[in-house]
Amino acid sequence: MTNLNSQVAIVGAGPSGLAAAAHLRSANVDLRVFGKVMEFWERHMPAGMLLRSYWEACHISDPNGDLTLDRYERARGVQLPRPVRRDDFINYGQWFQREAVPDVDGRRVTRIEAASKCFRVMLEDGESVWAQRVVIATGVGSFAWRPRQFNAVPRTLASHSSDHCDLGRFAGLRVVVVGGGQSALESAALLHESGAAVEVIVRAPGVHWLRYGTRLHTWLHNQANPLRWILYPPSNSNIGPPGVNWIVDTPDLFRRLPFAVHSRIKRRAIRPAGSGWLPPRMNGVRITTGRVIMSASPVGQQVRLRLDDGTERCVDHIFLATGYHFDISRCTFLAPNLVRSLRLIDGYPELTAGFEASLPGLHFLGAFAVGTFGPLMSHVAGTKYAASALTRCILEQPANSRSRVASHEWDGLAQTPDG
Ligand SMILES: Cc1cc2nc3c(=O)[nH]c(=O)nc-3n(C[C@H](O)[C@H](O)[C@H](O)COP(=O)(O)OP(=O)(O)OC[C@H]3O[C@@H](n4cnc5c(N)ncnc54)[C@H](O)[C@@H]3O)c2cc1C
Repeated sequence: MTNLNSQVAIVGAGPSGLAAAAHLRSANVDLRVFGKVMEFWERHMPAGMLLRSYWEACHISDPNGDLTLDRYERARGVQLPRPVRRDDFINYGQWFQREAVPDVDGRRVTRIEAASKCFRVMLEDGESVWAQRVVIATGVGSFAWRPRQFNAVPRTLASHSSDHCDLGRFAGLRVVVVGGGQSALESAALLHESGAAVEVIVRAPGVHWLRYGTRLHTWLHNQANPLRWILYPPSNSNIGPPGVNWIVDTPDLFRRLPFAVHSRIKRRAIRPAGSGWLPPRMNGVRITTGRVIMSASPVGQQVRLRLDDGTERCVDHIFLATGYHFDISRCTFLAPNLVRSLRLIDGYPELTAGFEASLPGLHFLGAFAVGTFGPLMSHVAGTKYAASALTRCILEQPANSRSRVASHEWDGLAQTPDG
């Protein structure tokens, strides 16, 4: 019989993991949380960045709705600027953690294996803990996507946007930013403001600017405007245009729609776009649209790019703001046989209403849940739905009632724990 160290182990202490921990803890579930608090935001997002989401969509969920950004403002006795700044959001997340889950264990999880109807969670220092359930909330960090045209260029010359938190190191350099979404456009603005000479190369025929921040949008969003309640869902998650945004904001509805509809909604909801407050900051940034980069090769300390119109660029650095491609097999800390045992939808684990994968006891939150519950899940606004549904599921199947676990899903997966 295995000694369980906890009923639930949560891997990842970003907004999803912290919200889940806050909800479960308040329901007296015995749990442990692993990972550095808000690490992705601190180490992989650029200093100076502003959140695209509205203020109301940036609250990390706790069961009583007490630990909001408003409450954080009051606790600090300051009024924070809107849009929310990355640094303020990190400080808010760390405050949320101290209030709701003060005992987060900062160690990284290196491997998760199935072990005699529970899970073995191995930590970076070699220690293992056993948990009846594991909740994976490790975000998109492992899924940064580098297009293959850049395979021949070393990372010192062509890096992914998530490789950086300080864009000041590019001052005085010529930088090409690849991509046409918020991350590309905001990085271009930040690079330009840091003193780099920047060109953005976008494959699409034009850049799509969101009206967020413009006078029309501000008017439409005014709480006193009756149109606001028709066009925008109450969570103000701001994902997708009116109509699509209501579906995205109702994950339970999204889950019940056919897969073909999922793909269309996802494409429409998360198409590349830049916030309306960015263009004034981009004066002096060259934006080239409708062009594909055919090849990239290092030339000494520089990179030469060939575009599909036959033109070339020779620059000091390529900044790949090319987003993230989800593929659970790239999650190296999950034992390969465990990954192989999961039913997948388009590379994402297929999840139940309680965010449980086809292997009982294994739950996925955040970006991992987008395949089942839609794009809201990869946003902070999704933490409320996800943490509540997860908690309900775990409370409905309390500890030691996992007889259903003695099922074929575990056959051949379990290894005898050695600790
Ligand atoms: C440039 C950019 C801008 C964004 N802007 C917004 C926005 O305006 N609004 C919004 O709602 N969302 C935004 N997002 C999405 C944002 O990432 C999510 O909202 C949010 O971070 C999701 O929280 P999470 O906890 O699921 O993931 P993360 O915040 O990524 O947290 C996961 C944590 O798990 C940790 N981890 C990973 N592997 C391990 C391991 N093996 N062991 C222990 N810990 C591990 C990571 O270090 C990380 O800290 C943005 C994303 C990007 C890339």
